[in-house]
Amino acid sequence: MEDIRFCPEHGYYRGEKCEKCNRKGEIILDKERVERLGRFVSGILRHFPNRFRLQMDENGWVDFDSLAKVVSRKYRWANKWLIKAMVYSDKKGRYELSEGKIRARYGHSVDVELNDYEPAENDILYYGTSEEEAHRLLEIGIKPVNQKFVHLSTTIEKGIEVAMLRTDEPIILVVDAKKAREDGIRFIKANEFIVLSKEIPPQYLRLIEVE
Ligand SMILES: [Zn+2]
Repeated sequence: MEDIRFCPEHGYYRGEKCEKCNRKGEIILDKERVERLGRFVSGILRHFPNRFRLQMDENGWVDFDSLAKVVSRKYRWANKWLIKAMVYSDKKGRYELSEGKIRARYGHSVDVELNDYEPAENDILYYGTSEEEAHRLLEIGIKPVNQKFVHLSTTIEKGIEVAMLRTDEPIILVVDAKKAREDGIRFIKANEFIVLSKEIPPQYLRLIEVE
């Protein structure tokens, strides 16, 4: 995690210097607090809105003010402004804010449908995994385990990055999204790098070796 700083010209950003003007802005939130705040907010929006009696609709939206109240009860230093700074500076596009509501863009284990997402147009997608897992998936297809959706990568590099969290020898499965889409499988765009789908049957998968 990195500190969140503020550039008077370009707004909130993560890291030492503003990428757009190379100036060093003032620290708004230090990295330990960014980590704690992020873990709590993403935990609520992905996994446990009910624990705090927050209403979530089928598209994952929660009232922003209500969430901010829950957050500032847990962390007295937190407030709406800091939550927004965290959302807008997040490099992974984890959150979305709109019309007084907030949601996670991906990672849900709660029961959501995400019907208002844009469809993903990619013809090819990637799924990074370990070797033993890859062979199993080629037989049974990719199904969500702890999550509601399967998370696919839009580039090989991102697929490798995901796989590296679990193994030193990443294997990449290629998803023929074009064919799957023609056959009625829904793909939705979480952000630039992540595409979600309910399940990918094995006939759309093939394996490529990573050097
Ligand atoms: Zn700047």
